[in-house]
Amino acid sequence: MNHLRVDIAVVGAGPAGLQAALAAAEARVRVALIDRYPRPGGQYFRQPRSEPALASAVARQPKAQALFQRVHRAENVVYWPETGVWAAFPSDGDEWLLALDGPDAPARLVARSLVLATGAYDRPIAFPGWTTPGVYTAGAVQTLLKSEGVLPGRRVLFTGSGPLQWAVAAAVADAGAEVILLEAVSRARLFSLSGLLALWRQGERLREARAYWRSLRRGAAEIRFGWAVVEVRGEAEVEEVIIARLDDQWRPIAGTEASWAADAVVIGYGFLPENRLAQLLGCAEDFAPHLGGYIPRRDETMQCSLPGVYVVGDAAGIRGADVAQLEGRIAGLAAAARVQARSAVSLQAALRPYQISLAQTRRFAHWLGRTFTPGPGLYRLARDDTTLCRCEEVRLADVRAAVANGAGSLDEVKAMTRAGMGYCQGRICGEILVHGMMRSNPPTSTYWREFQRLGRFRVRPPLFPLTLQSLAQG
Ligand SMILES: Cc1cc2nc3c(=O)[nH]c(=O)nc-3n(C[C@H](O)[C@H](O)[C@H](O)COP(=O)(O)OP(=O)(O)OC[C@H]3O[C@@H](n4cnc5c(N)ncnc54)[C@H](O)[C@@H]3O)c2cc1C
Repeated sequence: MNHLRVDIAVVGAGPAGLQAALAAAEARVRVALIDRYPRPGGQYFRQPRSEPALASAVARQPKAQALFQRVHRAENVVYWPETGVWAAFPSDGDEWLLALDGPDAPARLVARSLVLATGAYDRPIAFPGWTTPGVYTAGAVQTLLKSEGVLPGRRVLFTGSGPLQWAVAAAVADAGAEVILLEAVSRARLFSLSGLLALWRQGERLREARAYWRSLRRGAAEIRFGWAVVEVRGEAEVEEVIIARLDDQWRPIAGTEASWAADAVVIGYGFLPENRLAQLLGCAEDFAPHLGGYIPRRDETMQCSLPGVYVVGDAAGIRGADVAQLEGRIAGLAAAARVQARSAVSLQAALRPYQISLAQTRRFAHWLGRTFTPGPGLYRLARDDTTLCRCEEVRLADVRAAVANGAGSLDEVKAMTRAGMGYCQGRICGEILVHGMMRSNPPTSTYWREFQRLGRFRVRPPLFPLTLQSLAQG
């Protein structure tokens, strides 16, 4: 059997995984770094597949290049790109078994410790017309631009909340498209006292924000605060976009609707943590809507409830690249100390400076989460004929019919409608379906409690589609 043993397996070569691998390698343990993408960097440090046509739109990141090189030079790190981890299990003794699918990697890997740094993915929001060709997520547009140098359209309308859509809109404007940006959060909320306090000592973030603002202004972009797209019309392409002003629960205010023209619509309402490997292993979880929903419960070394399993970066709650790097560093050091059976006292001393920085950096990330996480009103935009599960073409009306016929949990809706049984295995539609199951006007104060009560899909391997050959080998 094609299978190998290492001290630490790091899944994900984004900011968190790279720092974890580097910290562990510096402590002289054997590390395997695994990532599905062809090049290291994850989302924030994403590198173009080749030199892009729109090179000016892609930020040069010298810090990232230095990090790649240090990991690359470490002799005790083996790096497998284009390799997915499609399952994880406890192995004999105190070890963990990963099933891999990639050109050069073994089919199975046994590790004494795991660092799961699997990142996040775009949060989908269902509204009438969200499946029309020409409607993208902000992450997809960023990937198109960064990896392929391709623009989504000539007149591009962004609807969402938070930094990613601003970053992508600025890049799209720099690349020459006409941009309209609707930020769902109102100006008053954004520039409130808590907002200004959160920005205290965030010089780098302020510089980034200023650069986005300048790019958008240079491109004569139209910017509105407290507005969102509520409907996209068109069959084979985007023909008309309906926008509306939102109230403080993110509900469209009747009478404010307006019609706009655009040839692409970009949805950017933040991210959901990609932590299915942690779920599969059975890590205990908490529910934190402002961090993206279900997140693994961890101690101060980033270890979850299972000994030797560490979860870091956006996979453990959406907090951005700076937090991801600090968490990765902490987990790498802690995992190495565990493998080497080093004393808790020496580990604590090594972790202390990173933990102090982490506490400061997290404060800003938590303000971002509290400010930009969509309110319940946004999830009421879908109508009976709106598709919620794209793979199996299940509409809101089908979900409501299942609930009326007695389905009391997401798994029961799945059994009755096939929602979540398609290619994405519920990764995209899971959250949308639960919102669709909610009573028509649940009180805002109990919204998230009700949301949790309806449950979510159980994770089962394989985590992504595999060839029969990979399945047989694994
Ligand atoms: C689409 C998108 C765009 C973003 N753009 C920005 C931006 O412009 N500016 C900004 O400040 N922040 C951005 N963010 C947020 C920022 O990327 C993150 O905060 C930061 O990258 C988190 O780092 P990470 O290491 O936790 O995860 P990531 O950078 O997401 O890296 C996770 C890595 O894990 C790999 N992976 C996941 N599952 C598996 C598996 N089963 N097997 C193998 N490999 C796996 C992925 O291929 C990926 O490379 C973006 C996030 C997303 C999702």
